[in-house]
Amino acid sequence: MLMQEERELIVEYGKKLSTSGLCPGTSGNISIYNEEKGLMAISPSGIDYFSTTPEDVVITDLEANVVDGTRKPSSEWALHTIFYKNRPDCRAVVHTHSRFCTTLSILGEPVRAVHYVVGDAGTACVPCAEYRIFGTVELAEEACRVAGNSLAVLLANHGMVAYGGSLKSAYSLALNLEYIAELQYRAMCVGKPNCLSDEEMANVIERFKTYGQPNTKR
Ligand code: 13P
Ligand code: ZN
Repeated sequence: MLMQEERELIVEYGKKLSTSGLCPGTSGNISIYNEEKGLMAISPSGIDYFSTTPEDVVITDLEANVVDGTRKPSSEWALHTIFYKNRPDCRAVVHTHSRFCTTLSILGEPVRAVHYVVGDAGTACVPCAEYRIFGTVELAEEACRVAGNSLAVLLANHGMVAYGGSLKSAYSLALNLEYIAELQYRAMCVGKPNCLSDEEMANVIERFKTYGQPNTKR
């Protein structure tokens, strides 16, 4: 089976996304880009994560031409390919409808530096892209443009996107941002959150470069 390893990872992380509550129902989608092959493995559209098998995962090129697989690829394929085309180190993309990131997106609020871990996105804040209808190139373009240097972006009245050098790091970033978005929301409910300064966040981002085990791709 073409890109068996990537297909199995997509099945494994799909279950994690569902279990962690980041992707209620069949919402959200995940992909991995194999640069050598120039191909992407992406979750199928509208199939429950616990029913998805490696055979259901779809292999496409970056123009969404199906190269292997019988299922229809995620309706958000453009939201994935745009990051592979425009961010040289991007190897995996995770899109979720996680509750607190989506809550902030409904308010048009970025994820702010209310907690230092926001620096996991490589920036002091995770911006919020304007609303565009799901499953369109327009949504993908707006998300990629607004993301800028950040490894994540909120999608107004929809959800969030996180990406990275591996599915593990993209998933971990999605989890971290959901945690911070919840803290921010809770703080906003009772007052005005104190945010870390740009200077403090620059120190955090620098320190994150040596966080964790050496030689592991984040
Ligand atoms: P798919 O099931 O087509 O991946 O779509 C889910 C989604 O989140 C659309 O924005
Ligand atoms: Zn979505």
